[in-house]
Amino acid sequence: MQRKHTKSIDANTALSIVKELDRALAMHQYWIKDFYRFIICGESAPHSCVDQDAHLLCDFGRWYASPDVKKIGKPHKAMHDSARKLLESLPLGNEARKTSYLNFVDDSLDFKQAIHHCQSELLQRVCTVDHLTGAWTRHTMESRLREEAERVSRGSPSCVICMVDIDHFKTVNDQYGHLAGDKALSTVARFLMENLRIYDITFRYGGEEFLVCLPDTSLAEAEALLNRLRVDLSVHPIRIGEDKTITISASFGIASLNAGESVSDVVERADHALLCAKSQGRNRVCVWDIEPVSCLNR
Ligand code: GH3
Ligand code: MG
Ligand code: MG
Repeated sequence: MQRKHTKSIDANTALSIVKELDRALAMHQYWIKDFYRFIICGESAPHSCVDQDAHLLCDFGRWYASPDVKKIGKPHKAMHDSARKLLESLPLGNEARKTSYLNFVDDSLDFKQAIHHCQSELLQRVCTVDHLTGAWTRHTMESRLREEAERVSRGSPSCVICMVDIDHFKTVNDQYGHLAGDKALSTVARFLMENLRIYDITFRYGGEEFLVCLPDTSLAEAEALLNRLRVDLSVHPIRIGEDKTITISASFGIASLNAGESVSDVVERADHALLCAKSQGRNRVCVWDIEPVSCLNR
């Protein structure tokens, strides 16, 4: 899992595409039935079997140009192409007919599989990517952090967990409205994801809080990196309306995930560090160092 997140998709859009894909599959199953009836009983061939552009003529062919289902285009065309080839092979010998038939069966199965794959990808995106911010969801975070803890316990370099909380975010909602708040929240999330390293992972922890996992990173490295990010964020113009731009700062609490340690322990320490950053005036990075803990604000 990398910082380059899949584009987020809202649940309603995803579900309507999944339904549409079910319809496309059913439609093609009827089409295959008609096609076999023609081959076996010699009834008239559906015109969508013989046309060079058959894959573009069926309802689904016009629709699959949508980026969310683009991957289905190739297997869909392959299936229609091999249906045409099967028709062309009918007057030929047994061997040619058999090869064309097997190719058609394989291609129609590939098409079915591509639809199912696309449906499960869409549903997975709904569960794993937060719709508003594009960050990974908290649900995804739990399993991803457990993997990271196991990696560190096996001897890999330690990783740093960072809790980020936007400063005075309630004021943004109160002053400019909830929609403007949403816009600001998604801009901050995008800023974090675009300015962290490619292998750092940003999760929406809840509300206006994010958890960032920085693998193979020492506390000192994370502190320096996040301080640069914090300063840049605090001057980054956030457009919340036609001609309204604001700036927002955030507080950061970091702790190191050490070998043999549970995920909840390190998250708790990062959260304590975040509280320190808040209590010390906000817009700062606080480090929760070794136990018994001292909260350092350098
Ligand atoms: P602090 O500096 O102490 O963090 O102050 P704060 O105002 O950011 O903190 P507080 O926890 O009091 O308020 C967080 C606000 O974030 C309240 C809540 O309405 C808002 N919020 C949480 N999730 C969303 C969201 O998805 N959209 C919008 N617009 N606001 C949200
Ligand atoms: Mg908060
Ligand atoms: Mg806040």
